[in-house]
Amino acid sequence: MSDHSSSDTPTLACPTCKKPIEWSEKYPHRPFCSERCKLIDLGEWASEGHKIPGQPVYDDVLSDDLDPTKTRH
Ligand SMILES: [Zn+2]
Repeated sequence: MSDHSSSDTPTLACPTCKKPIEWSEKYPHRPFCSERCKLIDLGEWASEGHKIPGQPVYDDVLSDDLDPTKTRH
């Protein structure tokens, strides 16, 4: 009765290239099959985030203007 390492390793598809991988130490970049796919996915996510119109500069100006420690008398 040695139930040590069963062959029931969960498998999943790499989100980037859909290649089937095992959820094990064989794939340190899981759920991606490789670091390359991981970077590709992160890159797409970042470029998509770029499209969202944020207002970081405007917000920075506002908070700077409202900062009481910077408006000295
Ligand atoms: Zn992949």
